[in-house]
Amino acid sequence: MRARPMAEITTDAGKAAEALHAGRLVAFPTETVYGLGADATDDSAVAAVFEAKGRPRINPLIAHVTDIEAAMGLGRFDESARQLAEAFWPGPLTLVVPRVEGCPVSLLATAGLDTLALRVPAHPLAQALLAAFGGPVVAPSANISGRLSPTEAEHVAESPLAEKVAVILDGDECPVGVESTIIGFDTDGTPVLLRPGGIPREEIEKVLGEPLRTGKGGEGTPSAPGQLSSHYAPRARLRLNAQRPEEGEMFLAFGPDAPKGVPGLNLSPKGDLREAAANLFAYLRILDETGVSSIAVAPIPEYGLGEAINDRLRRAAAPRPGEEEA
Ligand code: AMP
Ligand code: MG
Repeated sequence: MRARPMAEITTDAGKAAEALHAGRLVAFPTETVYGLGADATDDSAVAAVFEAKGRPRINPLIAHVTDIEAAMGLGRFDESARQLAEAFWPGPLTLVVPRVEGCPVSLLATAGLDTLALRVPAHPLAQALLAAFGGPVVAPSANISGRLSPTEAEHVAESPLAEKVAVILDGDECPVGVESTIIGFDTDGTPVLLRPGGIPREEIEKVLGEPLRTGKGGEGTPSAPGQLSSHYAPRARLRLNAQRPEEGEMFLAFGPDAPKGVPGLNLSPKGDLREAAANLFAYLRILDETGVSSIAVAPIPEYGLGEAINDRLRRAAAPRPGEEEA
């Protein structure tokens, strides 16, 4: 038997687009995290994404397109959806809107829903890939479901996922570092925050001119009442809101007042939440690779990108599948 060829690592977006046309999977950088891309209109390519990640099929995928016009060909945008798209695209914002009639995106991608999650990514290599491909690309994060998201091409190349992808587009480190903010809309058109992410709530509220309601959806949907589902998890346990590490722990610190001389890393010594978000997954990975059984994490302020950082940390600390909740 011949071994499966490993993914080709390249910066050639045309090569990756060819692989998509052939029904293969490609990993590519976006400004948020690396995505695992497939032709959104190809049922079997979309099925391969769920299979490669071990992702539950009830968890729908985001379709990525080059611009607002392409998005409007797939989903129906009312006034506030249009307003948000114009303010934040291209960028780390996902809008969940009704599918237009005849929408060619695979129903498998949207888990049978009549809504579709759409995003226009800003990363130049993501843009080059979408332009070369010429159609919508579904792309969840390029990791095994539930584990740390990849923010460097190497994270993908080192993952078991690498043997399932034809091409890995190498675009350096993802500048935002946490997944997109997801906004859905009520039946009356009111925007609802489904997942905090790369665009802070405050910026969205400034555009809307009113407070943004928090809704249920995305990874925000508890699997049972009062219970967070485990996601974004390293192998080690996380202990949140820690002032300092205990014996045998690594410390993920934040800000200038972090205790000195303790083992670990500081997400942002100057206390910048953007820098902290960009470092979050890569630093968790580095601390996890030391082999410790527990990582203590400093408190992170709950404003700006801190809301997305704390969301990811709470899920990473949640009971793992099959475990009793304490
Ligand atoms: P990921 O691709 O892992 O960043 O996750 C995308 C998230 O978008 C998932 O957790 C979904 O729950 C959410 N999502 C995608 N499509 C829809 C939709 N049609 N309605 C509500 N949420 C959606
Ligand atoms: Mg993900």
